[in-house]
This record gives sequence, structure tokens and C-alpha cells, in this order.
Amino acid sequence: MKKVILGIFVAVMVFSLSGVAGAWKLIPTADQAKEKAKADKSLAIEKGEKGDFILSPPGLKKVVLIHYKKGFGGFCNNNGVCEKDLGENPSCADCSNVKDKPEDPTSTCSAFLGAKWTNLPIDYVIDPDNSYGLTEEFVANAMVLGAEEWDSYTNADLFGGYTIDYNSSWDGSAPDGRNELLFGDYQQDGVIAVTVIWGYFKGKPSNRGIVEFDILFDNDFIWGDSLNSSSTVMDLQNIATHEFGHGVGLADLYDTVCVEETMYGYSNYGDIEKRTLNAGDIEGIQQLYGGI
Ligand SMILES: [Zn+2]
Repeated sequence: MKKVILGIFVAVMVFSLSGVAGAWKLIPTADQAKEKAKADKSLAIEKGEKGDFILSPPGLKKVVLIHYKKGFGGFCNNNGVCEKDLGENPSCADCSNVKDKPEDPTSTCSAFLGAKWTNLPIDYVIDPDNSYGLTEEFVANAMVLGAEEWDSYTNADLFGGYTIDYNSSWDGSAPDGRNELLFGDYQQDGVIAVTVIWGYFKGKPSNRGIVEFDILFDNDFIWGDSLNSSSTVMDLQNIATHEFGHGVGLADLYDTVCVEETMYGYSNYGDIEKRTLNAGDIEGIQQLYGGI
């Protein structure tokens, strides 16, 4: 009898401890980001009274970068405001003065968003859910190779690890402290991928910083591996590499002299040249995070 009671007692203890451990792991990612940011005396995401996410300090802005198939995204409304997230093309008059220009124009093929990460390494979340029959392993591998391509050109510890989560979201209205990559539908035609970047893009360089990015691979296209696939598909690694470039602070290039760059703003089925960085991409990443 004593043994049974002891057994129950031990079982309860183990259950309690595992419960504590479980609860510890369940701290919302936003809170983890907040703790991490606090430790670094940097930017933080806090939960507001209504459960919404607010940024501390205030002044958070988002930048939405849409990757089009060439010939799409030609809508111009000429209202004096560059509305790329509504589909306005970078070549529209409204967008002719956007800050997609190099801070230090040593190359015409490097362009910057105006902020970079101050808390490294960057961890990210991969949602492999797709309707193209791509395995979790394939999706994760394509995305990791995209991140590592940038990492291999700087001594900074740029990207950390990733986690798999089949319930990810593209956070266009408020950040949640997670850098998520997923497949989904964007409202316009001809969109290959969309990246939203939350951060502080103005003021003194020491006050600037990126706090989150989310990447959506649009279901307008059939995704896969253009290098090894027999049919023509949109190459996941190709586009992931480009979008990670936005995630670390680089802007699109639309000048045709930059067509070889990973950050060139258009792609199409079968393209794989964005998988590997070109001179302007390397110059850009090294200007932001240092060389090797
Ligand atoms: Zn882009």
C-alpha cells in the first residue's frame, strides 16, 4: 500500500514538474522577444490591453515589399503616395522618390530599407503547409539554404535556427514577434511573394532597427525546385533567398543593369539565379552586417 501511495506521489510530482516545464515553454513568443530585447536594451514588442501587440518605443512602421512576375504590378493611381502594398509599381510616378536608394552609392545594385537587425542571430518559423505536394523537408531545406546564402557572406551571426509550425500567419496588421515563412493567398494577380517588415526606419541610426519580417509565398504560382524538377515551377529557394534579403534590410532593384542580382525585383518560372548572391547583394549585406 505504501508503495502504491509513494508511486502516486512520485507520479504527481513528475506530472507537476513536467507541467511547470511545459508552462515555461509556453511563454508567448512575443514575451520571449520582449525579454530578449530588454536584455539587449533594444526594441521590444509588448502586448497591449486589448491583446493587440504594441511596440516599445513607439514609432513602429511596416514596409511591404511585393515580388511580381514581370508585366504585373503596373497599377499607378497618381495620388502622390507610393502605395506598393496596394500594388503600385515602383516605376509609377508616385514611387519615383521612395527611399530604395543606396545609403552609400558605391554600387548601383545595392539598395536599403533604412534599418537592419540589432539583435542577432535572427530565428525564424517555417510553415511547410502547401498544396504542391512539397515535403516538409524540401520546404525547410529550400528556406534554410536561402537564409544561409546571406549568412555565408558576413562574419555576423546573422541567422540562428528555425522551428516548424503549421499554424503560422503573415502579420500585415500587427507584428507578433515571430519571423514566419508560409504559403498563402495575396489579393493581387501576378504576385510571387510578399514580405512585410516591421521596424524603425527613421531617425538616428542607433534608434533604427528591424523587429520582425513575415514572408508569404503566393499561391498564384506553382512552387517547387526549378533546378531538378522536370516541369516548370517557381523555384522556392530562389524566391526565399530574395525575400530573406528584404528580411535583413535590403530593398528591391528594378534597374535592368541589376538583373543578375538576388535583389532584382522581378522573377519568373524556372529562374534560379537569385539562389546565389551577386556583387551588389554581397556589397549590400556586408555594408549592413560587416564582411568576412
Ligand atoms: Zn523583393
